[in-house]
Amino acid sequence: MKNKNKKQSVYTRSAELVERVFSEAYYIGKASAAKGVVASYIPELAKADPTSFGLYMLDEGGGSLSFGETETRFSIQSICKVIILAAALKYRGFRGTFDHVMMEPSGDAFNSILKLDMRSNLPFNPMINAGAIQTVSLLTDVLSFDELTAFARELCHDEGIALDEAVYKSEFESGDRNRAIVYLLKSKGVLMADPDKTVDLYFKMCSLSVTARSLASLGLVISNGGVDPLSGGRLIESAHVRTIKSLMFTCGMYDFSGEFGVRVGIPAKSGVGGGLVCAAHGMGIGLYGPALDPFGNSIAAVQAMEHISEKLSLHVFDY
Ligand code: GLU
Repeated sequence: MKNKNKKQSVYTRSAELVERVFSEAYYIGKASAAKGVVASYIPELAKADPTSFGLYMLDEGGGSLSFGETETRFSIQSICKVIILAAALKYRGFRGTFDHVMMEPSGDAFNSILKLDMRSNLPFNPMINAGAIQTVSLLTDVLSFDELTAFARELCHDEGIALDEAVYKSEFESGDRNRAIVYLLKSKGVLMADPDKTVDLYFKMCSLSVTARSLASLGLVISNGGVDPLSGGRLIESAHVRTIKSLMFTCGMYDFSGEFGVRVGIPAKSGVGGGLVCAAHGMGIGLYGPALDPFGNSIAAVQAMEHISEKLSLHVFDY
């Protein structure tokens, strides 16, 4: 028997409603941006305008919505961890990746070293720095930075993705904590490549420049099971997408991942450059708002996504 109260599926929802909800979300996000603070531990990031906000949605039918600063370039930062994981799964396979990094939420800050030294030889998951650096060490001898950049361009439908030299320099000069992580991994005998080459490739990946629009394309490929709906080409194996989405859901929002899972309930990954990629049912959503909350997530992007998820019933556990 049909449940008459069941909410309308996102696939049948009217375009007017979707547009209204995204428009409201844009104004909610924009109004909350001023409550956050731009990242300053990488000096180059401190130059961002905290009031900036952009929201871009691409749906699997080719429709799109754009509000605010969706063409502004900013550094991908931690969102590169999704691309690094996708590449590791592609070139090393599931076991070849997860023999070297765990899949557990850490509950700690993205750059924490504490549990890595106390409880485990392997990093908790590929969405925190230690895990991403370890995952990069699986790729250092397999793929060049240019090849990884080409993969990022393909996933994001964005030929403009390139190394932001100023961010890279800033990252390199202020990256001692990440160097501590890579050398701790080496000291434990688990790092799979040269530490300096590994951390350098990680810095470069964090310094790729993207837009809210390119993140929406990435989100759409992931939400669509790894197939680019625009070209029909398969970019990620569907089994790998399941793994990527699971880790985005459980670990993608730093130590706010649990609360984001409850409140928003969409696989997502944020970066301290202010970006957020979301892989929702039938749509990819990319956001940019450099003012961050204390966890390192874009305050405007989180507020906007909470509204979108609630009004369009996009939580993966909504019924
Ligand atoms: N490049 C940054 C770091 O490793 C990435 C941080 C982030 O976006 O979480 O410190």
